[in-house]
Amino acid sequence: MIVVKVGGSAGIDYDLFCDDIAQLVTAGEHVVLIHGGSHETNVISEKLGKPPRILTSSQGYTSRYTDSETLDIFAMVYAGKMNTRIVERLQKRGVNAVGLSGIDGRLLEGTRKASVRAVIDGKQVLVRDDFTGKVEKVNASLLHLLLDAGYTPVLTPPAVSYEGEAINVDGDRAAAMVAAALGAKQLIILSNVPGLLRSFPDESTLIRDIRYADLEQALGFAEGRMKKKVLGATEAIAAGVEQVIFGDARRARPIWNSMNGEGTVIHK
Ligand code: ADP
Repeated sequence: MIVVKVGGSAGIDYDLFCDDIAQLVTAGEHVVLIHGGSHETNVISEKLGKPPRILTSSQGYTSRYTDSETLDIFAMVYAGKMNTRIVERLQKRGVNAVGLSGIDGRLLEGTRKASVRAVIDGKQVLVRDDFTGKVEKVNASLLHLLLDAGYTPVLTPPAVSYEGEAINVDGDRAAAMVAAALGAKQLIILSNVPGLLRSFPDESTLIRDIRYADLEQALGFAEGRMKKKVLGATEAIAAGVEQVIFGDARRARPIWNSMNGEGTVIHK
């Protein structure tokens, strides 16, 4: 069982990791893929005249301000365009992929934040119409049902709140919950960087190995959205995943290379 998260940042080559998934599935491996769509959502939002707004929490974590209209755009891009095109790539390679968002079958479930205290455009605000939350529960039995029947699940936010609302959640932390719920030994998080860099964007400063006990210190090197990846890795290891690997989705064989320890390897 291997859980792969692929980001939605600019520069990611979707054909490369789909090639790897096809090989793994052909060899009989169970693979669950979770993907993002942040860059494309920003592009489409701009085109629709509703540019993205970013909330920054008091601890410095950023998230997309997701009012109801933004959630429509978010769902169109993540569960629509991105999911369909990844499933299509896998189908072309002979992988019987099934695309699902977290609301389907309550796959990814969690609490919607009642209100979010944050900074928008430099101003401290209390946001109440934000449809965001955090995945706390995974419908693992639905995933096993699909995997055991020979399908490859391709998952994406939005998730579902306990009240049944669609909510925007962080994909890296959702992937951590999925890996833990499925008892995966490895969680591979692919993005448009070689891994966690001590001094971003200098790629020669790649940190190759991080022990769980040193993750808090490692968080200090991460800025912006990379912080969520480090947080997701911390949560995955705490929940029993043996290794989380941050790998480069721009290079050939991204999943194989990550499985073999290229990138940033995080472990107990
Ligand atoms: P994705 O959408 O692929 O999940 P994100 O954009 O969320 O990826 O996060 C990856 C980004 O994090 C990189 O493109 C980079 O701009 C940023 N980043 C910030 N700090 C670091 C760091 N120390 N090492 C690597 N990337 C970092």
